[in-house]
Amino acid sequence: MKPKVFVTRPLPYAALERLEAACDLQTYPEDAPIPKERLAESCREIDGLLSVGARITEELIRQAPRLRAIATPSVGVDHIDVAACTARKIPIANTVGVVEETTADLAFALLLAAARRVLEADAFVRAGGWKHWKWNLMRGANAHHKTLGLIGFGRIGQAVARRGRGFGMRILYSARHHAPEAVEKELMAEFRSRDELLAESDFVSLHVPLTPETWRMIGARDLSRMKPTAFLINTARGAVVDEAALVEALQGGRIAGAGLDVFEREPAVSAELLQMPNVVLMPHVGSATDETRFEMAKVAADSLLDLLDGRRPPSVVNPEVFPGHRDTR
Ligand code: NAP
Repeated sequence: MKPKVFVTRPLPYAALERLEAACDLQTYPEDAPIPKERLAESCREIDGLLSVGARITEELIRQAPRLRAIATPSVGVDHIDVAACTARKIPIANTVGVVEETTADLAFALLLAAARRVLEADAFVRAGGWKHWKWNLMRGANAHHKTLGLIGFGRIGQAVARRGRGFGMRILYSARHHAPEAVEKELMAEFRSRDELLAESDFVSLHVPLTPETWRMIGARDLSRMKPTAFLINTARGAVVDEAALVEALQGGRIAGAGLDVFEREPAVSAELLQMPNVVLMPHVGSATDETRFEMAKVAADSLLDLLDGRRPPSVVNPEVFPGHRDTR
C-alpha cells in the first residue's frame, strides 16, 4: 500500500511529481493557514507530512499515530516542536542550501531601500510631489564602504557578507562561535561581541534562528547601543527583535531606520511602523522568488519521499532519530 501523505498548501504540481507517483497524496487546497482542527483531522492516518508553515505541536503529533516523516520547505523550524518529533523518532527534513542566497538578496534589498529611501521616493513621484530637482531631495545614506554588522554568521549571514564585500563594506559578525579562519579571511570578516558590533556598525543585519535564546535578543538596551545613523535589517524572525522597543527607538530617533521582512506577531505589524517613512516593510517573503520557491517545494517533497523510503535526505534537523547516528556537529 502506498504511504499516505498530507501537504498543507497547494504546491506546484511539477515539484511534487515524484512524491505523487509514490504516495497517496492529499493537499489542503488553499494558499492560507490550515485551521488547527482540519490539520489534526487530515493527519490522523498519514505516514508523511509536508508542512508549509503549519504549526506542528506535540498535540498534533499525538493525534497522528502513524506519522513517521516530516518535511518543511524552509530553513527555520520554529513552527515545529522538534523535541516532540524527536521523542517520537520522527525525522524532520528542511531545505538547507536552497533559500540562503535568495534571502540574502532580500536582506540587501532592504538595506539599500532603507538607506536610499527607495520606497519613500517612489511614493513621492507617484503622488506627483516631484516639481523640480532639489539639492536636498530624498537625501539618504551611503551603503558602500560602510560597516556591515551581521548577528548570526551562518549560511545567510555569510551570503549577505559576500554582497557587502561587493559594496566595499567592512564586515563584522557576532555569533556564539567564531567562523572558520578561511571564511573570516575570504570575507575579511572580524568577530565582535554583540555590544561591540552594535556600536560599530552602520547596518546591523540579523541572521540567527528563533530559539528561546534568541527570542527578543535585540531589545531597548541593544538598540540604544547602535549609532543614531544606523539601520536595523531583519530577515531572520520577527521575535528576535522586541518590536515595541524598536518602535520606541525609531520614534526617538535613536536609530535612523529599519528594513523588516519579519514581525513579532506577523501578519500583524505595529501600527506605528506602518506610519514611518524610514522603515521598509515586507510580508515575510525572504525566499519568495519563482526559482527558489519551486526548488524549496521540490527539495521538501523529494526529502519526504527519501524519508518514507528509508533514505537520508540532504538536510535533517534531528538526525539523532536515525539508528546508529553519531553527532558530528
Ligand atoms: P544558520 O546557517 O544555521 O546560521 C545561524 C547563525 O546564527 C549561526 O552563525 C549561529 O552561530 C548563529 N546563532 C545561533 N544561535 C545563536 C545565539 N543564541 N546567539 C548568537 N548567534 C546565534 O542559519 P541560516 O541558514 O543562515 O538561517 C538563519 C535564519 O534565517 C533561519 O533560522 C530562519 O529563521 C531565517 N530565514 C528567514 C527567511 C525569510 O523568509 N525571511 C528565509 C530563510 C531563513 P553559532 O551557533 O556560532 O551561534
